[in-house]
Amino acid sequence: MPDIIHLLPDAIANQIAAGEVVQRPASVVKELLENSVDAGSAKIQLIVSDAGKNLIQVIDDGKGMSETDARMSFERHATSKIRKSEDLFNILTMGFRGEALASIAAVARVELKTKTTDAELGSSIIIEASEVKSQGPDSMNQGTTLSVKNLFYNVPARRNFLKSNSVEMRHIIDEFQRISLANPQIGFSLIQNDKEVYNAPAGKLSQRIVHLFGKNYQTQLITCQEETEWFKVTGYIGKPEHAKKTRGEQFFFVNNRFIKSSYLNHAVQGAYEGLIKDDQHPFYTLFIEMDPARIDINVHPTKTEIKFEDERSVYGIIKSAVKQALGAHNVTPSLDFETDVNFENFAVHTQRFESGATRKDSGYGNFKSLDQKQGKSVRWESLYESAINESSLSPAEIRQEEMAGFDQSIPDEPREKVQMEIASTLSSSHDAPTSGTSDPVLMHEKYVMKQVKSGVMILDATLAHERILYENYLGTLENKTGMTQKSLFPVSLDLSPADFSLVMELEKEIMALGFEFEVFGDKSIAINGVPADVQHINEKELFEGLIEQFKYNKSELSLNTQESIARAMAKRSASRTKISKETLELKTLIDRLFACSQPNYTPNGTPTFVILGLEKIVEFFKYK
Ligand code: ADP
Ligand code: MG
Repeated sequence: MPDIIHLLPDAIANQIAAGEVVQRPASVVKELLENSVDAGSAKIQLIVSDAGKNLIQVIDDGKGMSETDARMSFERHATSKIRKSEDLFNILTMGFRGEALASIAAVARVELKTKTTDAELGSSIIIEASEVKSQGPDSMNQGTTLSVKNLFYNVPARRNFLKSNSVEMRHIIDEFQRISLANPQIGFSLIQNDKEVYNAPAGKLSQRIVHLFGKNYQTQLITCQEETEWFKVTGYIGKPEHAKKTRGEQFFFVNNRFIKSSYLNHAVQGAYEGLIKDDQHPFYTLFIEMDPARIDINVHPTKTEIKFEDERSVYGIIKSAVKQALGAHNVTPSLDFETDVNFENFAVHTQRFESGATRKDSGYGNFKSLDQKQGKSVRWESLYESAINESSLSPAEIRQEEMAGFDQSIPDEPREKVQMEIASTLSSSHDAPTSGTSDPVLMHEKYVMKQVKSGVMILDATLAHERILYENYLGTLENKTGMTQKSLFPVSLDLSPADFSLVMELEKEIMALGFEFEVFGDKSIAINGVPADVQHINEKELFEGLIEQFKYNKSELSLNTQESIARAMAKRSASRTKISKETLELKTLIDRLFACSQPNYTPNGTPTFVILGLEKIVEFFKYK
């Protein structure tokens, strides 16, 4: 038999490596920005068009490359950053594998222009799919410009796999933010489709944070600092009152490298205990410095995971550093989230639904009331069973499909266990509905209990509300019928550049919901009105919350714009809605839920109610 094993041609080997290194335009951005940082640049400019699918260009004023190095830089495992294996344990540059340029050049058209200080002329190279198309001297300023065009043009499967521009752009902005936060001493700018999105001059970390995330950060940063013999943490944390519902702006850097660590995140979250609600997330940008020998940064090719030699100590130090910082700012755990229960708001909501249901031309889309359909009172009891049967996917399946990383706060306990727990609370409660009455009762300010034919129904009022509002908003968006409740005074809102361009992009939809706003100044808007059905005093918080939730839905779940915005708005206003314990309003809530097209789950797949079956209840009281 002839020998059949041979070495792969470089172009193919590079393409295979590219599969790991270059997953999307944002990976290219990361590698190029890191190279420019490593090159000692003072200013770095990132230009992208079509979310990086057509062009990613990075222009730096760093040390540049010699003519030979320029050519060498595209070879696989070609690096100037390590020479011997011991260097691997002492890595202080961002790159070191020497894979990035080779991989990028294998899957795109790449043009490199570079010049060192002492050279008279620079050199220019054009490479397409690992093949050098041209190379020669070129006149230019000191530094390096790398242009990556038509990413994945020769790997159609990859190109087709890319997400929408807004999702890819979000990833690019994430990388840009991480790298520019880690290097405030370098000026960074980002130009997207010929428009300047960021322009952050070299400065202090606090200034960089304000440049990236908006002016309102000026007043919400707390310095955090702690040092031990082998470990140092510095940076900023956000004041508890500015904590947000979604984890957006949370950054850990280890030796200036951005890392993801749910373990360390837990440490910070723990330090805020009692100061923020469980489902809120504080801002932080924390830099950890320690001996590189005590960490392994090489566990993952894209290098955001990291292993510490002594994880527990790191956890402890971070937690105490954050606690101290919070204490030093006299933030005492005096907030009481339980006391501000206001029953009025919910009443307004249900009224709105009443009128929505009776107005034939109201255009509430999906939100069709059974009153309308049947002309008599809602018979939801017979409905829930068919609703259960209608849904062919289990909650777990729906969750898996729709939820990837959506909201970690959803309990994952088996339904039966939850049912048992509620059942045991029920049996000790005097308020439990006695047989014969079938009026719903509110328990623990949150759960609605109701006798049904087959047992007892327990409904989560907030989640039920989220479903109702979601279908309502979808209808509103489709028919553009949102009504506005004018603000007494316009409320101004300073937005980060990225959020501002997002708001401009979504203007139509946001207006359709019932918001009214106008642009003033550079990146600010004035909110003149909010959707009429939202009883929310704080326009600013509502608007910011909507944008924040929207970004999350859009990037994590790849939903279309209308869907994302309806979900975001429903989640926001449902969590703000205070629940009434009045029987009539509880009944209306149940009726409205079962008039929904899919009452069983919230839009992200969390169950809205459970049924504790009679046979189960009988089972509890069997003599064993
Ligand atoms: P790595 O960064 O892991 O060394 P890369 O493939 O990203 O590998 O880059 C290869 C080499 O090219 C680097 O080691 C560096 O010497 C050189 N290089 C890349 N980008 C730049 C730049 N912007 N300025 C100067 N040198 C660069
Ligand atoms: Mg590199």
